[in-house]
Amino acid sequence: MTFSRRFLLDAGIRASIALPVWMQVGLARAAGRLPRTAPISQGAEAELRSRRLVVIDPGHGGRDPGCIGAGSLYEKDIALATAWDLRHALERGGYDVMMTRSSDVFIPLPARVDFAENHHANMMVSIHANSVAPNTTVRGASVFTFSNDPSDPLAAEIARDENSVERISNRSFQGVSPQVARILFSLMKHSTKVESLSLQRNFVDSLSRNVDMLPNPARHATFAVLQSSAIPSVLVETAFLSNPQDEAALRTNEFRLRLAASMKSAVDAWFLARRHAIANL
Ligand SMILES: [Zn+2]
Repeated sequence: MTFSRRFLLDAGIRASIALPVWMQVGLARAAGRLPRTAPISQGAEAELRSRRLVVIDPGHGGRDPGCIGAGSLYEKDIALATAWDLRHALERGGYDVMMTRSSDVFIPLPARVDFAENHHANMMVSIHANSVAPNTTVRGASVFTFSNDPSDPLAAEIARDENSVERISNRSFQGVSPQVARILFSLMKHSTKVESLSLQRNFVDSLSRNVDMLPNPARHATFAVLQSSAIPSVLVETAFLSNPQDEAALRTNEFRLRLAASMKSAVDAWFLARRHAIANL
C-alpha cells in the first residue's frame, strides 16, 4: 500500500493530537523527510528522547509451569528470575521497567499484550526457556518475532486485523474518520513489524557475543504474546531445559547475569538507533 506525501501529512496533522509520539514519527518517516515543523512537535520529540519504558514479560506462571527440566527446573521460575535480573540491569541503565508479572501468578497471553499497549511501552521483551525432550543435545538461545503462518486462512488474518484496528482506534486514532484510522493502523502495524525485526537483530547480535546460540537464532512464529500491532516485541528463548548443560547454567547467577547484560546491551543499541533516526527526520 502506498500513500501520497500530502495525504500522510494531512492525516498526521489531523490525528496528531490523539496519536502517540512514536506514531507521529512513523508517519513522518512514511511521508519522507519532513520539515521539522510538522507533524512532530518539539515537545513530542523531547518526550520520545527521554521516555524509555521497557515491559518485560516473564513467560508462564501460576498453574502454567511452562516446560520442566530433567533436573526439575520449572520454566516459569527461571523466566521470572531472568526477568528480575534484566529488570535490575535496565534500571541501573536509567530505563523505566514494568513487568507483566513479578510473582508466580497466571496471566493470560492477551492480558500481557494489553498491559504493554495500555502503558504505551517502547518495547516488550518476553522471557522463556524451551525444551525438545527427549532430545537432550539441542541447546542455545534464540530470539523470536511474530509471523503469521502462511498456511493461515486469509480470513483469519483479516478478522484479527479488524479486531486489532477496533481496539487500537479507540485509544490512538480519535478525531479521524474510520477510513483514515484504518490507514494509520496499517502504517502502524508495518512500522511495528520493522521495529520488531531490528530489535530481534540487536538481541541476536548481543546474545551471540556472550552465550551459546541455537543455529539460525533469529526465528519467527505465531506466538500470541508477540501479536501487538503497536509495540515492537521479541520473545527470547534463553536456553533449553531439556539440555543438562543449559539447565545447569540457568541455575547459576553468573549465566543469568550474562544473559541480562547481553539483553540490556541490545536494548541500548535499539534505542540508540531510534535516536539517530529521529535526529535525521
Ligand atoms: Zn515458554
